[in-house]
Amino acid sequence: MFPVPDPMRRALDAARDAALAGEVPVGAVVVKDGIILATAANAPRALCDPTAHAEIQAIRAAALALGSDRLKGCDLWVTLEPCAMCAGAIAHARIARLYYGAADAKGGAVEHGPRFFSQPTCHHRPEIYAGIAETEAAAILREFFAARR
Ligand SMILES: [Zn+2]
Repeated sequence: MFPVPDPMRRALDAARDAALAGEVPVGAVVVKDGIILATAANAPRALCDPTAHAEIQAIRAAALALGSDRLKGCDLWVTLEPCAMCAGAIAHARIARLYYGAADAKGGAVEHGPRFFSQPTCHHRPEIYAGIAETEAAAILREFFAARR
């Protein structure tokens, strides 16, 4: 096993924080030039906001930090394969590179379902790196749902 890159380590920590708050455990981090601009956890329940996925929260915070709606040259690290909504936000934000952990056969939209970035109507496709710390990311989700049954 090779070491987990620092941004993914932080995203995994954010996912654990989400689980403690009763949210589906997903965490996301936006990095530019090696500097972390934003770290966010999934929070739709706490915020009464169905769009408050970790990726959306992190993209919003990073855009505010940069003072721009375009996150040019930024990388997004997220513990779970993004859904269709988040894939759309990633394209709108012009994220340069997407790194994600666990695949999501049910809700994912990158390698599953709509395969958003492969559609001819997708106007921006980041470089995509899947399976980063996949085992740990999947275990956090599995444990969360097992504890709820
Ligand atoms: Zn999402």
